[in-house]
Amino acid sequence: MSDKGDNMAMDDIKQSLSTIDPHSSSFDKEAALRHAKEKGWTEPVPYNYSTTGSQDAAEDAFSHPEAAWLSDAVRYEWSDDYGEVGPANPDLEQKLFYSEKLVKAGALIKAYEFEVTLEGPIHIHPVRDFDDAGLHPLMRENVRLCRYETPTPIQAYCIPSILLGHDIVACAQTGSGKTAAYLIPILSKLMGKARQVAANRPNPLTYNAITDRVRAEPLVLIVCPTRELACQIFDEARRLCYRTMLRPCVVYGGAPSRNQREELEKGCDVLIATPGRLCDFMNKTNLLSLARLKFTIIDEADEMLRDDWEETMSKIFGGGDANEDADHMYLMFSATFPKAARELARQYMAQDYVRIRVGRVGSTHGNIKQRIIWTEDSEKKKALYDLIFSMSPARTLVFVNNKREADFVDDFLYNAGLPSTSIHADRTQREREDALRSFKIATCPILVATGVTARGLDINNVMHVINFDLPSGQHGGIDEYVHRIGRTARIGNEGLATSFYNSRNEDIADDLVKILVESKQEIPDFLEDRVPETVTWDDDTDNEDLNADKENVPDAANDGYTFTAIDEADGFSADAETAGNW
Ligand code: AMP
Repeated sequence: MSDKGDNMAMDDIKQSLSTIDPHSSSFDKEAALRHAKEKGWTEPVPYNYSTTGSQDAAEDAFSHPEAAWLSDAVRYEWSDDYGEVGPANPDLEQKLFYSEKLVKAGALIKAYEFEVTLEGPIHIHPVRDFDDAGLHPLMRENVRLCRYETPTPIQAYCIPSILLGHDIVACAQTGSGKTAAYLIPILSKLMGKARQVAANRPNPLTYNAITDRVRAEPLVLIVCPTRELACQIFDEARRLCYRTMLRPCVVYGGAPSRNQREELEKGCDVLIATPGRLCDFMNKTNLLSLARLKFTIIDEADEMLRDDWEETMSKIFGGGDANEDADHMYLMFSATFPKAARELARQYMAQDYVRIRVGRVGSTHGNIKQRIIWTEDSEKKKALYDLIFSMSPARTLVFVNNKREADFVDDFLYNAGLPSTSIHADRTQREREDALRSFKIATCPILVATGVTARGLDINNVMHVINFDLPSGQHGGIDEYVHRIGRTARIGNEGLATSFYNSRNEDIADDLVKILVESKQEIPDFLEDRVPETVTWDDDTDNEDLNADKENVPDAANDGYTFTAIDEADGFSADAETAGNW
């Protein structure tokens, strides 16, 4: 991000909105291309679907150089000759841990101020150091290879809770390290006993797909709403399973089921899945059995429990041949916690599940500089064009509210000489993976996306998130805003989020102002009159739920186990105090 971009006041930005219209008849495309080039942007790259699906196209995909589909990515293959820990594989190690594309924790990670709230009758001591967390030595080594130096707040609480065997419902901020928060302790727990609990698997060195294939009987099931998020979790699982006999697989819609089926047939201990494809495979009982499951994790549960997913979620939670033993742990992670998620928790989880909240539910952190600019709909294209050129080239994510708009804005930028691409739900999985790859490797450093597809994206160095359209109240409202801007400033990095606002966005104005006040951001003049005296939130927790919670977790508040821990510069300090409501 340029200095100019960093320091630019809102008035400057408004002034810089020139009258250039790349769509007007007098627009000179050659001149636009020259202009973009002079400003340091790379040349736009047209789609070339003839290369997609090939080995070339897969080059660099999500740091899976060898994979045509993300689900085919290479993973550590275990041989029966190994003892408890497999030998190092330097080539694979290079790919898994040293790719340029991995998100690197920024300097600000230590300066984060997190309020961690723990509720329920169980008291958990946070771990401040991975060395003291009681992890399996191989897991400790893998965490070191990931270059995770200290546990993030959600990890500080999840690791001991899971190691102690508690079910968890956790709310954590975007980019807070929640994937590792559950993968590290779960895989660490399984490392010592994989031989006893895991299903038999064929020897990868002599594998014959016709005679040796097995039924997948995972020990861990992770369900999440989007294909992109599933692939990211799979990536993290490939790293944390390194040199173990635990074999991760990912299944998601859009990509051919054949490849995914073939991977399952080689054995699968950790299954990451989107709900639709998972249900398909659950119906094929000779391909997949959930009878061995020891851990079920629902990630981004709020998204999964929206309307039409509810039935599917109940099927996954309670259906199939899932192991319903008392030792089956359930974990739910979410940025916000809607009623449906709490109901599911009540139905399936142990009564004394640990409830962890990092920051206010749905809040955003201060590392993101947020700017709101008044822009009429008719001026948005010009505004976007000028905004992009007002700063040095940087990886930029542009959010719009619908698929048509995504195509339209992408076309507009592309024709204006900018290296953009786009992603939305009507694109094929091949196109989605291709767009994300181009964005990641910066062939197309500008990605236009609808909120749905970009949820959970964890991409290195997204410096600028632009809300071309602010999410409307009906389409996720302020929670969606928080998710979107959380695509920048991941895990201790800094970032910028600029949103175009006009009278059509009044439905989220009050919540938006509360977010700005809460994260100490500049309030634009046109929203000044909405600044409240004190910021209070309706956490989607109604009295009925509160009472129900009290019934289910007797004496939770009275036992004095509920406390708030504030992460300070030198670590966590826990103050006994009554925490907020769920
Ligand atoms: P998540 O919230 O799971 O999407 O994680 C966001 C990013 O943080 C991912 O790129 C992780 O690799 C990274 N990460 C997770 N835990 C840590 C840690 N303890 N220190 C530094 N980076 C981490």
